[in-house]
Amino acid sequence: MSTVEVRDLHKYFDAGRVRAIDGVDVTTGDGEYLVLLGPSGCGKTTLLRTIAGLEAPSSGDVLIDGQVVTGLPPRARRIAMVFQSYALYPHKSVLANIVFPLRAAGVPHGEREERARRAAEMLGITHLLDRKPRQLSGGERQRVALSRALVRDPSVFLLDEPLSNLDAKLRTSARDELKRFQQDIGATTIYVTHDQSEAMGLGDRIAVMSEGRVRQIGAPNEVYDHPADTFVATFIGSPPMNLVPCGDVLVGVRPEHLLPVENVNGERVTMTLEVRRMEYLSGDRHVYGIGDLGAEPTRVIARLPATDDTPITVGERYDFAVPQRRLRFFDQDSGLRTEPVRIGA
Ligand code: ATP
Repeated sequence: MSTVEVRDLHKYFDAGRVRAIDGVDVTTGDGEYLVLLGPSGCGKTTLLRTIAGLEAPSSGDVLIDGQVVTGLPPRARRIAMVFQSYALYPHKSVLANIVFPLRAAGVPHGEREERARRAAEMLGITHLLDRKPRQLSGGERQRVALSRALVRDPSVFLLDEPLSNLDAKLRTSARDELKRFQQDIGATTIYVTHDQSEAMGLGDRIAVMSEGRVRQIGAPNEVYDHPADTFVATFIGSPPMNLVPCGDVLVGVRPEHLLPVENVNGERVTMTLEVRRMEYLSGDRHVYGIGDLGAEPTRVIARLPATDDTPITVGERYDFAVPQRRLRFFDQDSGLRTEPVRIGA
């Protein structure tokens, strides 16, 4: 097992015009499943490639198990990387594909096949060893790619959106499989995705990235419940957190905490919503309205669970409320989380 650390990492392209990574510090735990989450272009892939040694950083260091590996080539890092496109050799059999890295690494002939078969067994694909990649489903190809990564006995796995080629249903089962697989082998894993539900489901911790920086790193419930800034607050959660101006601050309200006033007990803050639109999603009602907290009116979304049958008509006004303890607060200018403020009644 291993830890991966990046220290004050910068990576610029085009003579500094593109700041793909703009000062990142991250340390994984041993055997941790860390997810890098962020929108397209935020630097996730570049960070992963720099850790793998496929890119040289402009400045800063990469450490594995506390050793600086910044100048070392990929093969000296005991890291396995699986990309979006699995890049299997189309003319080789599955077995030959899995064996390939061992041959390249100079593992003795007699040992190769046995190790490849063991890796295939771990991913349940021994019955596919004689096939060619084109005779496999997307999920099976993914398992071949993982077996090929596993066969070298890496201590760190770097996975770059490995599920993005799969359809929605297969992606869910592949995600479960991947999690189980990681727990079985216990290898430290860094996983890149822009899909927040994948991140929430897989990660021990999530590093939320934007514009080459890590905005927040924490357990899924931490980044969801206590977002460090408005970027994280609105990137995670679907529908995203509402941000309602109030004095010097933006008040953050998760849609599921904004409910018809009669259903909210204890200390609460009320807001009248003029309902503009409603959507039904998996039994929940998403209520789109306009509301305010004593400052300018803002678009707000409430998410009512299927168990809430309060009658609501589009075009009418209703009193909603949020429990006081559910409110989050952000600075209007910087967007950073601030101390709670008492508002309303
Ligand atoms: P995606 O989810 O779309 O793959 P990402 O978060 O992985 O995005 P990166 O691929 O790391 O983002 O790219 C980060 C930034 O660096 C982008 O602005 C991209 O255009 C730029 N970039 C990446 N590689 C290069 C390169 N070789 N030359 C110039 N610019 C690059």
